[in-house]
Amino acid sequence: MPDVPGPPPANQLLIGLARLGQAVRMQAWRNAGPHHLSPLQADIITLLDGRGHPIRQGEIVEELASTPPTVSDAVKVLRRKELLEGTRDPADARALLLGLTAAGRVEAARLNVQSAELTDAVAALSGDDFAAMLRGTTTMIRELQDRNAIPISRMCLTCRFFVPHAHPVRDRPHHCDFVDAPFGDAELRVSCPDHENAGPGSGDPGPPGAS
Ligand code: SF4
Repeated sequence: MPDVPGPPPANQLLIGLARLGQAVRMQAWRNAGPHHLSPLQADIITLLDGRGHPIRQGEIVEELASTPPTVSDAVKVLRRKELLEGTRDPADARALLLGLTAAGRVEAARLNVQSAELTDAVAALSGDDFAAMLRGTTTMIRELQDRNAIPISRMCLTCRFFVPHAHPVRDRPHHCDFVDAPFGDAELRVSCPDHENAGPGSGDPGPPGAS
């Protein structure tokens, strides 16, 4: 039987992921809102909202895989728009911590509402497909992190509280020691405020039903 024409399956998957990323980025441009946010400015607000407390500018650079001058420019604009404010770090008086103002938190709530198009696209997945995509995505992110290709994400697979396949049940095999509760692939976190890094090679959820 002749081979299926076109790029190999791995490339097809990467092309598909790039298309999804393109859709998310296009939505970010369309969702500039009343403060005319660029996607990077929106990412900074969403990051600070997810953390729930002020952080240093260097952490923003690292988390968003950006550069200090690029983030510095975006932070200046956000402070001018009165969405961010700086406070002195109690641990080091020379360092500045950046956090959201009340207006910044309102903007974060607006950004947390996904577009109808993206919401409907996710809703088109079956429960099993949703869990498989989340599991596959987090596995690929972890592999790239282990190769220093991307910064560390605050996700279950790199978290010291994550215990994969702790329970002999198909739907909720994993355990989060932080909240002391079982959960399934469909509830894996890619960005969790309670994450603490466990180091490389941790927490592979494996195939479904591996417990
Ligand atoms: S604390 Fe968050 S990242 Fe860590 S295992 Fe629990 S849900 Fe996952």
